Amino acid sequence: MRNFANRFPSLSFLSITAAILLVAFQSAVAASPEETAAKLAQQAIDTSLALEITTDLTTEIGPRLYGSASEKRAVQWAMKRFERYGFDKVWSEPFPVERGWERGLETAAITSPAPQNLVITALGGSVATPLEGIEAEIALFKTIADLLAQPEGSLTGKIAVVTQPMGIGEYGKTAGPIRSAGPSEAASRGAVAFLMRSAGTDNDRMAHTGGTSYRSGVPRIPAAALSVPDAQQLDRLSERADSIRIKIVLTPRDLGTVTSQNVIAEITGSEKPEEIVLLGAHIDSWDLGTGAIDDGAGVGIVMAASKLIRDLPQRPKRTLRVVLFGAEEIGIVGGRFYAESHKAELPNHIIAAEADAGQGPVHTFNIGVGNPLEPTLSTIRDALKPLGVQAGRAKSRGGPDIGPLSEVDVPVVGLDMFTEDYFDLHHTANDTIDKIKPERINQSAAVYVAFAYLATELGGYYRAQP
Ligand SMILES: [Zn+2]
Repeated sequence: MRNFANRFPSLSFLSITAAILLVAFQSAVAASPEETAAKLAQQAIDTSLALEITTDLTTEIGPRLYGSASEKRAVQWAMKRFERYGFDKVWSEPFPVERGWERGLETAAITSPAPQNLVITALGGSVATPLEGIEAEIALFKTIADLLAQPEGSLTGKIAVVTQPMGIGEYGKTAGPIRSAGPSEAASRGAVAFLMRSAGTDNDRMAHTGGTSYRSGVPRIPAAALSVPDAQQLDRLSERADSIRIKIVLTPRDLGTVTSQNVIAEITGSEKPEEIVLLGAHIDSWDLGTGAIDDGAGVGIVMAASKLIRDLPQRPKRTLRVVLFGAEEIGIVGGRFYAESHKAELPNHIIAAEADAGQGPVHTFNIGVGNPLEPTLSTIRDALKPLGVQAGRAKSRGGPDIGPLSEVDVPVVGLDMFTEDYFDLHHTANDTIDKIKPERINQSAAVYVAFAYLATELGGYYRAQP
């Protein structure tokens, strides 16, 4: 409690009276939840807090590969920051990640007919080549379907190369599956290594990493992504040469089972502490850049939004819980662990939103709830409109880490962001803080804080009515 007499020992009787009158006046015209939400949104923009947090995280910690010492430092960093912000509860929940991994050297070159270096990067989880590398003839496929059409044994001894481009909006549909299933599909046909055109929309000489996985019972072959210009170079050369040979050297290390953590911080609800509104983002990142757009920005957005709510004179009615998930990048390990280990309290999860699509701005409010006619959704929609957010028609899964919650009917919203340039940088060495624009990330924080505050205050229930 503040002690006014001690803080203001020289206050005169008159000014104390004036202060009392002012307090009385303020409570008589207490702001509506909508007015407070608008004020919080403006603060998110004026303070630039989301950008400040993202800058601190990417500068003080840097890359945050799942299970690494850096991810652990990031967890400590986040917990300290939540404590400094005055959250009521701050803790972390460790979980095992079976596929601990560390990048090594990664080089590739065409050895014939036109020797030249290629820009590649190992896919996360890839096995190593022998130290001297693998040199072999390539089998180039312009689409993954062409590779899948090959009979068993047809790629024996070859390096399979898939140069299928990724269009805007195709990450989940094509590029993701090529990256995760491609190596085993190639290996099951006899290939000794796998190269793919980067899952990215840029044309920079910079490769995009990302997790891959191996099917059991199939040989595990080294797997890497080519930068887009290098993949195009192979396309052109393959139209001119009967045979192309490539040498690849990859020396990543398999670390076995490692530990990652989810960071959880709460502002305890003043009226319904058992009811939880959840904001999520992921604390881990790939190792090539500093994870600014993926997902330092998301961390900045949800931490800023919740900090502004914490700074209000009163606690929100419901509990606001922020979860910074670990090990998202190698298969949403933290998100799945959270859904499993919090099963008993999921019925108390009122609604969840996640920020994991870059810096924004947020353009559309989609919902994934059982009760889409719940009237407070309209109030939220109206509150987001002045921030430039339109009402959407798509059914949302919320995001990668809260996807497992959505699957078990926890209501979610999708505060969908502008992502047309997201996959230019995603999972590359170029994912650094200088790419984040204040007006974009701060608009996102404004939208998240308005949503989160109204979800805690308005008392809506979003599950299907029995
Ligand atoms: Zn991400």
